[in-house]
Amino acid sequence: MRRHLMPLLSAALLAACTAPMAFGPQGSAPVFQRNNAPVAEHQLVSIRYTSEAQLFELSASGMDVFGRDHEKQTLQARLSPAQIARLREQGIEVLVQPFQAQAQERAPMPPGYMTYQQMVPRLQAMAQAYPQLVRLQDVGDTWEKTQGQANHDIWMVHLSNHTNRNRKPAYLMVGGMHARELAPVEILFKLMDLLTGQYGKDPRITQLLDTRDVIFLPMVNVDGRVQVERGSAWHRKNTHGPGVDLNRNFDNHWNYQGLDVPNSWKQGLSDPNGQIYSGTGPASEPETQVVQAMFHRFKPVLAVDMHAHGDMMLWPLGYSKSDAPHAAAFKSLFARTVQQLGFKGGTSAQILYPTTATTRDYAYEQHGAISMTLEIGDSFRPNYSEVERMWQRLQPHLLTFLETPGLNE
Ligand SMILES: [Zn+2]
Repeated sequence: MRRHLMPLLSAALLAACTAPMAFGPQGSAPVFQRNNAPVAEHQLVSIRYTSEAQLFELSASGMDVFGRDHEKQTLQARLSPAQIARLREQGIEVLVQPFQAQAQERAPMPPGYMTYQQMVPRLQAMAQAYPQLVRLQDVGDTWEKTQGQANHDIWMVHLSNHTNRNRKPAYLMVGGMHARELAPVEILFKLMDLLTGQYGKDPRITQLLDTRDVIFLPMVNVDGRVQVERGSAWHRKNTHGPGVDLNRNFDNHWNYQGLDVPNSWKQGLSDPNGQIYSGTGPASEPETQVVQAMFHRFKPVLAVDMHAHGDMMLWPLGYSKSDAPHAAAFKSLFARTVQQLGFKGGTSAQILYPTTATTRDYAYEQHGAISMTLEIGDSFRPNYSEVERMWQRLQPHLLTFLETPGLNE
């Protein structure tokens, strides 16, 4: 593995070294990027596409494309000046957004969010406060820890009335897979606080934990998240070499080449410097292996992988425009829940762009779970007051998800 990785790594370093440098007012010394320094390199843009083929081409070209507007036929992306120039040379319309504060490469964490170092004692305090409800476990090491580079663990919280040892249907809530998506970790903590704090008080929640196992993996990509906490505001992937997109690394249609889309879409999955690099093989990453192990261990009947952003509920299958066999169940659940908040619903191929080897498809195709990716909010780093507002809106629907019977029940 190392033999293959080294050339990729040096290629990435080379690319970084040959990138255009910003110079100071005297035109002499290079200006190094500080947290508050105007980098002004990347820009938030809207790209207008004119055909589905072009959409596929753009969404998998290695660029950081993170949203799509059907009606306006635009993609939202963060591009370098060179990427913008290249698209314009091809005659593609690129509109630079007026507000660029969020485009900066480096930025401190917005206030209000907990860090990984703050999360661990919070979890331990929860386990101590509610011993009959909370089982807390370190379920695996991150890539950096496997390399002896950092002491980052992936934590699992198992909420249930543990005095009742009957086998219960399990529900899996996953967050923090993409490092820069800050709100999902917080929303999952608010849900854990609600379930533990209201058990024995609120009949609905008491019933829920008496009859169900609710499993949380609130922060899967700890290595990536710590990079964001250190100021790398746009970090998405894990930190293995140039980074692997964990949500393209699952052992289900990994690096799937069968979809009828341009070759560039398929190549995007194999580009280590791209944002959707799928890794060297199915479940190559320790973080992915941890999530898969939770599916094998608990066999959840429903799984929510919480991401940001766009207010969307994505259900399987991400690599096909056709409806999955259980599409009616997904649509019904959508109609009863977040559609009422104005969320869009569909498969990612239908409403965003094609995806393969995601948590969502793995959960459904390998384990028969009702599964979804919930894309919440309207930015990667909302003000914390916005997180509170999102929680108020999402809370009743998250409880409905936890009460939904599995496909075979
Ligand atoms: Zn994401």
